[in-house]
Amino acid sequence: MHNITNIELKENFCIKNMTTFKIGGEIAKVYFPKSEFECVEILEKEPNAKVFGNFSNTLVSSYGCSGTVISTSKIDNIIFEDTRVIAGCGVKGPMLAKAAAEHGLSGLEFMIGFPGSVGGEVYMNASAHGQAISDVLESATLYTDNEGFFRFSNDEMQFAYRKSICHDNPYIVLGAEFNLKKKPVEEIQAKMNENLAFRKSHQPMMTLGNAGSIFKNPKGDSAGRLLDACGVKGLRSGGVKVWENHANFIVNDANGTSTDVLELMLQMYTRVKERFNIELEPEIKFLGGNNLREVEICKILYQK
Ligand SMILES: Cc1cc2nc3c(=O)[nH]c(=O)nc-3n(C[C@H](O)[C@H](O)[C@H](O)COP(=O)(O)OP(=O)(O)OC[C@H]3O[C@@H](n4cnc5c(N)ncnc54)[C@H](O)[C@@H]3O)c2cc1C
Repeated sequence: MHNITNIELKENFCIKNMTTFKIGGEIAKVYFPKSEFECVEILEKEPNAKVFGNFSNTLVSSYGCSGTVISTSKIDNIIFEDTRVIAGCGVKGPMLAKAAAEHGLSGLEFMIGFPGSVGGEVYMNASAHGQAISDVLESATLYTDNEGFFRFSNDEMQFAYRKSICHDNPYIVLGAEFNLKKKPVEEIQAKMNENLAFRKSHQPMMTLGNAGSIFKNPKGDSAGRLLDACGVKGLRSGGVKVWENHANFIVNDANGTSTDVLELMLQMYTRVKERFNIELEPEIKFLGGNNLREVEICKILYQK
């Protein structure tokens, strides 16, 4: 085992450029472990550290965060064993999708079009284009302070829409094992190309800061449809606006701040509540706590 002092640590680290929103201030301590073991070593010494993957589903406060964060971006091991693939929590979805395709393995084509990490995708039960993590995950390797390392099967992960057992428990995803199906490489590649083409025409380019869908779909409906009916497309708050082509996306087109985003989310939430009596739940996570107005808005948006 390494001494914790040998693990890459950046203090007062500006996280902005690591997030897909291109928003976020300084975080007091950010660790960059290179293996699951280094990650656990940090967690043993800093049990309150928060773990993030690619920050593609997270809004980080422009006022920063006084806590400790672990970035899993360097835990990027991938092992293929026949139809199974074992991936470290920091492996990026598009990279895993491409690697699986090269091995003639189908089931991860949906990962090609969005920038999550394996850990974040398992945590969120990411899904797209009719495929989901819960369809292909064989088991996840988890860690908590109390229980140490353990493995949960697909059933034990209690997957639901944008949810896993990790939401209600302090479980860190260290890695995941997927069981895939053999298919011709050309067929897998064609499906990935189709997914990428869909993204190009339906979602903002990644050069325009964003974090994917802002609110979850309420049961039996679509957050985008409800928001569109409330006329939010193009609505602006400081440096961010609701994307003109999809009412459930916020894009950062003018150096926006986290407060701009939260104020806009509050307006979107309020309009839907007033018109349809539906309280939308944010899909994106928030990391912050240093600014009173932001804390106030989060109390409304993240009350459930
Ligand atoms: C353009 C765009 C398109 C998108 N399209 C989709 C889509 O079609 N479908 C979809 O499902 N999502 C989509 N997303 C959202 C996002 O990519 C997914 O939610 C992804 O699963 C998040 O992964 P991440 O590593 O970026 O998570 P992060 O933003 O880093 O973290 C998200 C949450 O997961 C937790 N977490 C991260 N890693 C771990 C870990 N190892 N252990 C425990 N908890 C962890 C964090 O604490 C946080 O609560 C999109 C995002 C963008 C920017």
